[in-house]
Amino acid sequence: MIKAINKIFISIFLLSLIQLSSAEIDQSKGLFEDKFRQLDESFPSPSLSRPATGEPGPDYWQQRADYKIKIKLDETSRSVSGTETIKYTNNSPLTLNYIWIQLDQNIFKQDSINNLTRPWWGENKSVDFSTLRRQNFMDNFNGGFKDLSFKINNKVAQTFLVGTHIRLNLEKPLKPEESTEINISWSYALVEENAVRARNGYESFADGNDIFLLAQWYPRVTVFSDYEGWHNKEFIGNGEFTLEFGNYEVEITVPSDHVVAATGVLINDNDVLNATQKKRMLKAKKSEKPIFIITPEEALKNELEKNTKTKTWIFKAENVRDFAWASSRKFIWDAAGFRQDSKDNPVVMAMSFYPNEGEPLWSKYSTEAVMHTMKVYSKYSFDYPYPTAQSINGPVGGMEYPMITFNGPRTELEEDGTRTYSRSEKEFLIGVVIHEVGHIYFPMTVNSDERQWTWMDEGLNTFIQYLAEQEWDINYRSDRGEPRWITDFMSSRNQVPIMTNSESLLQFGNNAYAKPATALVILRETILGRELFDQAFKEYANRWKFKRPTPYDFFRTMEESSGVDLDWFWRGWFYSTDHVDISLNNIHIATLDTLDPQVDLTKDRIDLQNEPIILHDQRNESAEIKTRVVVRPELLDIYDQYDEFTPSDREMRDYKEILDDLYDKNDSDPEWKKKALVEALEKEEDYYIFEFSNEGGLIMPIPLEITYEDGNKELIRIPVEIWRKNPRKTKWLKRSKIKITQAIIDPFWEIGDTEIENNYYPTRLIPARLKPRASRSNPKNLMQDLLKRNQSLSSHN
Ligand SMILES: [Zn+2]
Repeated sequence: MIKAINKIFISIFLLSLIQLSSAEIDQSKGLFEDKFRQLDESFPSPSLSRPATGEPGPDYWQQRADYKIKIKLDETSRSVSGTETIKYTNNSPLTLNYIWIQLDQNIFKQDSINNLTRPWWGENKSVDFSTLRRQNFMDNFNGGFKDLSFKINNKVAQTFLVGTHIRLNLEKPLKPEESTEINISWSYALVEENAVRARNGYESFADGNDIFLLAQWYPRVTVFSDYEGWHNKEFIGNGEFTLEFGNYEVEITVPSDHVVAATGVLINDNDVLNATQKKRMLKAKKSEKPIFIITPEEALKNELEKNTKTKTWIFKAENVRDFAWASSRKFIWDAAGFRQDSKDNPVVMAMSFYPNEGEPLWSKYSTEAVMHTMKVYSKYSFDYPYPTAQSINGPVGGMEYPMITFNGPRTELEEDGTRTYSRSEKEFLIGVVIHEVGHIYFPMTVNSDERQWTWMDEGLNTFIQYLAEQEWDINYRSDRGEPRWITDFMSSRNQVPIMTNSESLLQFGNNAYAKPATALVILRETILGRELFDQAFKEYANRWKFKRPTPYDFFRTMEESSGVDLDWFWRGWFYSTDHVDISLNNIHIATLDTLDPQVDLTKDRIDLQNEPIILHDQRNESAEIKTRVVVRPELLDIYDQYDEFTPSDREMRDYKEILDDLYDKNDSDPEWKKKALVEALEKEEDYYIFEFSNEGGLIMPIPLEITYEDGNKELIRIPVEIWRKNPRKTKWLKRSKIKITQAIIDPFWEIGDTEIENNYYPTRLIPARLKPRASRSNPKNLMQDLLKRNQSLSSHN
């Protein structure tokens, strides 16, 4: 018998466990969650290279690679050939027996990882036109580096090709602090950018001209770092790159009527610019507004020339991690001198290159947006670190390299030959220029590893882009950064944490751009406040400019510098897929009892009076049922006469004992308990107990707006630590003399709460609109069709 009872007890116990919804689970054995657990165990151990403070430590080192490159563009075959010399310096404490070189163009080989593993098809067995176009192009394209030869110190090097990397064996190991010289020659065919959607290639126009955008175009030394050794993750397409800093001297040979824009500073302007252009450049340098170096009319004339002679443009760039360039005879060119309070670069040449197909949008906004970017980004990080900043229009929608960016927007040709643009196209141009020029800060200067972590440059950059857009125009319609725009993504199911490798991200734009950017907006506005955040962010940017930060260096710096424990924040926003949905379930209003039975029993009486008369009693009363005790009053006794809300002698005796207990003879103030009670009672306040639950999993501070009976409102930001004992539900107490009539969580949409309706107490009537819709039926009536057809046939006969 006893056994059987036990069994029943256990099964009921299990059943009740299963039935508990996640919000109902208390912290208990085996079910606890610690969202404040420190992340030390997930972060790499601190070292003297990368200490726990998040700064580059005394043992920090990075390699250096200086390049001299000569390249020739063949316009008719749309191909390039080049030679280069890399001076590679080993600053590491390790001896190197080999050097790896990145060959990013090999991504366009037929047997590349990218080409063999591309998802062809879309949802529901569909395929889009751009995919078909790409596959058609690739089937006929012989891409990747050709005619490759490597020499080390003038001797042919032994090599091993692995996809987009090649290993060069060193005959003589490269010891710490030594340098070696690598000579490389190569050629390859350019891709048609619009067909392949790469980050480089050509675009052909009906007038017979092309715009050439050259990026990831020369063999580049693979990174060798303190935390990963040789960075051997292949170039698959999404994870861009990280590189070593160095100086570049690049000679670019193109048709003589082409105009070339490139990373760095043009050093042979006497050879390639005419006298008018040089005069205009000098004028532009002194001008704070853009001036044409090549006017739209001159560009149109230039398009017709099609010269077959060549010219060589020579550019120099110092302390850059990469080099890119653009060439076309279609380019209009404008420039202005951006002034900044910087010793190294007091005047930066802000320039734009674009075809007439971008007008009148580009001449009005591109260079202005370049300058605005530098102004805003410098405020939040450091002075613009280079002598030029350029925006080039071409087929690449948006891409960044040191001192040069590729931006896509064009305008629409009207029937009368003029060109117009929509508000969206204008905002696209301003936004993309801010974004890509912003990348010259992150990651071109703060050299994070894009191949591993897209968010480190895209997320941080999108965050400042949002600040810059809102400083451009308060009415600018930013796509990303506002917490209210992220809610659909945050509550969607098919997603991975931000801390996921670039190639494995789902919903790329939301995950790597919007989510980290929004997290930083929330960190700035709600968690740390602008002053603490801005100081910490600036510290991160300055600590790591021209160096190589990891995610942990960012997390640690933000925490160290602000002095606020943020492990819960990184855990929730960067390491999990939880979302924010805090619900205000109940507010209880309580009064403080006096312990005096005279008073408290009177309250009991009122409580009872406030209870409804139950239905059965109501109906008995209206039926005028005569109860027995009414008919025979002699049946009443003492209990019927006694008032239960009058204190008995016993209750009064107990009260005296309670008061005696309040007397604490061992305390220096024996009356303190009584005083505390009296003082609290004298305030005549009500006690409001708020019950919150965390439906989304992501713990956050609770911005709470309370409305009082007198119409006043109060905003309280309850710190996130309210969740520290139980991340699923919590209570919070507020005392008030004036009655609270309403409370709202997140009234200004600052924390990205995904479900707004459970934020209101009492719940609100949900505003909605009904749109009348005409019903359209389109039945397939074959008989109707046939009759009509026969009719028309007979009438024709
Ligand atoms: Zn970007």
